[in-house]
Amino acid sequence: MNSDKPVANETKNTQSLHDHALDSLLPLLACPECRGDLARQGGGLTCQSCSRSYEVADGIPLLAQAGSSELWGVESDSQTSTAYQETFLDATIGERYQQRYERRWSKRFTTRREIGRIEQLLMSQPRCHRLLDIPCGGGRVSGPLVNATDLLLQADISLSQVLTARQTMGSPGSFAWLTASAFLIPLKEGVVDGILCNRLAHHLAGVEQERLIGELLRVSKRFVIMSYYDHDSFKSRGRRLRGKKPGYTLRRSDLAAMARRHGASVAMDLPLWVEGSRLRYALLLKNLD
Ligand SMILES: [Zn+2]
Repeated sequence: MNSDKPVANETKNTQSLHDHALDSLLPLLACPECRGDLARQGGGLTCQSCSRSYEVADGIPLLAQAGSSELWGVESDSQTSTAYQETFLDATIGERYQQRYERRWSKRFTTRREIGRIEQLLMSQPRCHRLLDIPCGGGRVSGPLVNATDLLLQADISLSQVLTARQTMGSPGSFAWLTASAFLIPLKEGVVDGILCNRLAHHLAGVEQERLIGELLRVSKRFVIMSYYDHDSFKSRGRRLRGKKPGYTLRRSDLAAMARRHGASVAMDLPLWVEGSRLRYALLLKNLD
C-alpha cells in the first residue's frame, strides 16, 4: 500500500528532477580550486584531486569562491569586485535589485532592448548544445537563451539569485544550476558552446576584466557574448568632463586586445541603443585551431 501523501510525492518528484539536473551537470564540472574532477559523496561533491568538498543545496552545487585577484595570484589594490560580490551576496539587496528592474517601466524597456541585443548576437551563431549564463542574476534577460540551446546552465555567485532564476525559468527546457564565480568558473575547458556574460564587466577593474575574459574563453568552445561600458561613449566622456567617475569602462581596442590574448576576436559589437551608448554587447568568437 502506498502511504505517500500527494504533497510528499510532489516533493519527491521535485527532488528527483533536481537530482537528474545534477547528474547531467557532474561530468562538466571542475573543482574551482584545482580544476580536478568532482564526484558525489554523501549529500555533496568531493574533488578527486585535492579532496576539497562542496555542498549541494536543494540540488544546486555551491561552487562559488568569493574574492578577486588574490584567487588567481595577481597583486592588485583593487577591491572592486569583492565589494560588488559582497553587495550581491546580501540576498535582500539582490532581490531588491531584481524588483526595481521589474517595477520601473523604463527599466523594463531597457530589459527588452538588452534581450533584443542578446538575441541578435545569439542568432548569428549556430544552435548550441550547451550554453552558460553567468552571472544569471534572477534570470531577467535569460529568456532568449532557452530556445538557443539544448541545455542551459545558469550560474551566479549568489544562491538566492540562482534560486530566483530557477523559479523564473519554469519547467519547459533543460536546465542546470550552480553557484560560481566568473573568475573561477567550475567547469572544464570548452564544455559549453557559448556563454552570455551580461552586466558584469563594468563592475570590474582592468585586471579583473582580463581575468574574466580569459575564464569565459577557457570554458567556451565557440563564442562569448558580453556587455561592457564603452570608454569612449558620450556618457563616459561626459562623466569624465564633469569630474564624475565613468564606471569601469573598456576601450574597444582594449577589448579586442584582451580577446586576442585569449584566442578570440571581436566579431560583432553593438551599442544598446545607438552608436555612442555606454553599454555595448560584444560577440567574441574563438579562433579555430
Ligand atoms: Zn580540487
